[in-house]
Amino acid sequence: MNKRDLTRTVLFAALSGIIGVSAYAQEKEYPQQERMKPGMSEYWTPQPPVVTPGACQGDGLISPPSDAIVLFDGKDLSAWESAREEGGPARWTVKDGIFTVDKKTGDIQTRQKFESYQLHLEWRIPENISGTSQARGNSGVYMQGKYEIQILDCYNSETYVNGQTGSVYKQTPPLVNAMRKPGEWNVYDIIYVAPVFKEDGGYRYPPTVTVIQNGILLQNHTAISGTTEYIGFPQVQPHGAGPIILQSHGDPSEPISFRNIWIREL
Ligand code: MG
Repeated sequence: MNKRDLTRTVLFAALSGIIGVSAYAQEKEYPQQERMKPGMSEYWTPQPPVVTPGACQGDGLISPPSDAIVLFDGKDLSAWESAREEGGPARWTVKDGIFTVDKKTGDIQTRQKFESYQLHLEWRIPENISGTSQARGNSGVYMQGKYEIQILDCYNSETYVNGQTGSVYKQTPPLVNAMRKPGEWNVYDIIYVAPVFKEDGGYRYPPTVTVIQNGILLQNHTAISGTTEYIGFPQVQPHGAGPIILQSHGDPSEPISFRNIWIREL
């Protein structure tokens, strides 16, 4: 071997060694996860439907949103019927864009039946209200005809707490007392989720209710344990869609009034 061949041989051996070592050192390659970018966790469809909020009409009254079912718009009680004689007309008094309980004719209820919904209604205790405790402007709004959210004058007037305004009657007291004084309008916004029943007639999921009065939370997704009985404990009775009932209470105090009632089914 001459000098030139020797140099070549040494170089070849050295190069082979380097390649061998580097091949040995090279790690197995796996697919790399793509790096997260902001857009990867953003989705654009389906777009929620556009709902136009009601316009402010003064006196704190805001007209219903564009997709609401209007239950009272100041004109008549055509969306309501007598609860006593189903199908018969609701005979409460409509005057000047509001309606007032007529205690002689009993409860009224919506002609339409509902499951889950968002309900808006406004009610006013008369300025000259008399009486105490439960006998002071007592009324109420029933979900699916069975579960009463209390309406009562509790402005500087006490009663049992699970029967005060915004209680799930005889079950859950409101978180706070958010009453406006007699003569002023109170606003209820109620989100109600209908129950789901088991085969044996018990609740798989009880009904729940969220109640906001005058923008203030009274019931926070409260589970309802059954019908709201005056005497005795709540009963669980399987049912389907039901009406909204407004209560004509037998107390001797001056009757209360309602206005601006609408509902959005969920
Ligand atoms: Mg009541």
